Amino acid sequence: MARRKAKGRSDVEHVGRVTLSSCPVRGDDRPCAPLNRVTVWPVEGGPVKECCTCSCGRRFPTSHPDAAEHLVPPIAPGEAVAVAPGRSETWTGDDVWPADDHDERAAVGVVPVETPVLHRPTEPVGRITPEIKAFAKHMVKVMHRAPGVGLAANQVGAPLRMFVQVHKRAMPEVVVDPEVRAAEGTWTYTEGCLSLEVDGTHAPLDRPKFVQIRGRTVHGDAIEVTADEIVARICQHEIDHLDGIEYVQRLVGDHHDRVYEVLAADGIDVSVLPDHPY
Ligand SMILES: [Zn+2]
Ligand SMILES: [Zn+2]
Repeated sequence: MARRKAKGRSDVEHVGRVTLSSCPVRGDDRPCAPLNRVTVWPVEGGPVKECCTCSCGRRFPTSHPDAAEHLVPPIAPGEAVAVAPGRSETWTGDDVWPADDHDERAAVGVVPVETPVLHRPTEPVGRITPEIKAFAKHMVKVMHRAPGVGLAANQVGAPLRMFVQVHKRAMPEVVVDPEVRAAEGTWTYTEGCLSLEVDGTHAPLDRPKFVQIRGRTVHGDAIEVTADEIVARICQHEIDHLDGIEYVQRLVGDHHDRVYEVLAADGIDVSVLPDHPY
């Protein structure tokens, strides 16, 4: 997911200590709040870890009176850490989009729309191998260089079900085999995409405000995250990529028509981006 262009007050670069009065990520002078609940089952066993975080990464105890709750009860710990074999059994890391094959419609190292790997579902990763760990590192590098706030593996040319995101104190930076368990509410936010760096394609999109996902970290720990606002939005945008869906396919009304006119005028074959493929 592309970094949103700053406007108005959010131009201000916030550095240093986060204050209670204004969150550097939420915008509109809203204070930090325990918006996200993160539950971690360590793969090595031991106690379950749980915390609540603001989008900016500020941490709150789960006993905080405003702490987020999971939307549905988390998976049982034993079931959470079980891993079925996946694509990683045969993945060698060869099938990676080379950074020097830069297409001007995408960020450096990112495949552009119309590339087949972006328009079909990815494959479950399964066991986390050294190759998968190395690929996750590569994805993080590409995301920061872009710069973007999130990146799915197929955007870097690999048909793997994993994504990375920048708010790594709010929730894990790398999520392997994510699955949406529940979603609630509605929130409007302007999205853009590192695979579609064409002027005029950013557009406001309504999606659920809260989303609960389960998956694993790159260390193999099982996680369940109920996210809100920007963190929830990044998860949904990236999981859509992993299902072969580009955000423009969710646009409706005037925003849809305007963006698809821009795409067609740019010579993009919009037949690869059919409406409502979900
Ligand atoms: Zn905050
Ligand atoms: Zn995207």
